[in-house]
Amino acid sequence: MKTIDDIDVNNQRVLLRADLNAPMKQDANGVMQISDDGRLKASVATINDLRKKNAKIVILAHLGRPKGEGKPELSLKPIAKRLGELVGIPITFIDDLNGADTLTIVNALKPGEIAMVENIRYEKDETSKDATERQKLAKVLATLGDVFVIDGFGVVHREQASVTDIARLLPKAAGRLVQAEQKAFDKVLNNPVRPYVVVLGGSKVSDKLGVINNLISKVDKLLIGGGMAFTFLKAQGFEVGDSLLEVDRIDEVKQLIKTAQEKNVEIVLPVDVVISKELDGSAPVSVVDAHQIPVGQKGLDIGPKTSELFAKKIADAKTVVWNGPMGVFEVNAFASGTKTVAQALANSDAYSVVGGGDSAAAIRLLGLDESKFDHISTGGGASLELLEGKVLPGLAVLEEV
Ligand code: ADP
Ligand code: MG
Repeated sequence: MKTIDDIDVNNQRVLLRADLNAPMKQDANGVMQISDDGRLKASVATINDLRKKNAKIVILAHLGRPKGEGKPELSLKPIAKRLGELVGIPITFIDDLNGADTLTIVNALKPGEIAMVENIRYEKDETSKDATERQKLAKVLATLGDVFVIDGFGVVHREQASVTDIARLLPKAAGRLVQAEQKAFDKVLNNPVRPYVVVLGGSKVSDKLGVINNLISKVDKLLIGGGMAFTFLKAQGFEVGDSLLEVDRIDEVKQLIKTAQEKNVEIVLPVDVVISKELDGSAPVSVVDAHQIPVGQKGLDIGPKTSELFAKKIADAKTVVWNGPMGVFEVNAFASGTKTVAQALANSDAYSVVGGGDSAAAIRLLGLDESKFDHISTGGGASLELLEGKVLPGLAVLEEV
């Protein structure tokens, strides 16, 4: 895989596909504001290095899902402004990719200067399933650059015009973020220091079965919390009340438990759970034995004994991957399991990688120090697919000649 150190960017127009898809909120005056600029900050390293190398930078990015329409609330304008502040130079905004002066603006860029094209998903061909439609758009994009750099890790699992099709038209390389993400996942997938512990949670076991299937032959311990734990408990024959349960996955989970035994992988399930009748914290909350969840109650977090147990296993590990919150962390009453696990990761000297959009959000929401983790992935879907062992098209295309 080539990086920006391996291609000539000096005085070249560099088309940079970044992932700037930040969560936005409308303020009291109806203006869209960025509520978490983590992905913008994660894009700065590449931009700074390209500027040092005298590149002229043209950024391609998306925001939300405008589905081929120019939705003003999904404009990248506020993103361009904030990113400009972060890199210390204003970014020229190109309102319309197909505008008469777009090429003129790009060709007028001087080395070190930056332009950003409006939300690429305003173009319906960007996400088309039809390759010829995507290629049509990619050809237009290719007129704006001499080389292509992919740094939007959050989109590398997508076959899209500004990700894969454009990469086939220009000399190409990975940016710093994609390099860092690849390095972290390569380590935990192919070269983990043992003991190797994977902590999984989140809402649906069906979302994570692919990950478990792939990791079961690599890890030493699998700690399971979150909503998915209840399908495991049920598979072991326990009642789970009104907790999240995927009945159609019970057989698959039983098989997984068997495979784990054969491979000598320890699966650690909750021993106690925080229960309530309501998800929003409005009903009474209590802690029960995980094997004795009463009828009518939902398990909404791992209990204190489980938190302690998981923290201990994490402390003994040399490599830890965490994906999926341990409970409904958005509600204070059910956040403590997620907090304890995240804190245990932060405290440990193990190599720690966090994947999954909500897990990364939980770290920030709960006010933990992000620098205490070795790697927090910026791509929820992309990181899951890597953990599933899939080949991601936006990375694979970098290997094509
Ligand atoms: P990630 O994005 O990190 O991969 P998921 O999307 O799989 O994580 O799951 C995150 C969601 O799971 C959160 O919104 C959280 O509220 C929910 N969740 C976690 N535990 C439970 C539970 N016991 N019951 C219901 N929802 C849960
Ligand atoms: Mg999620």
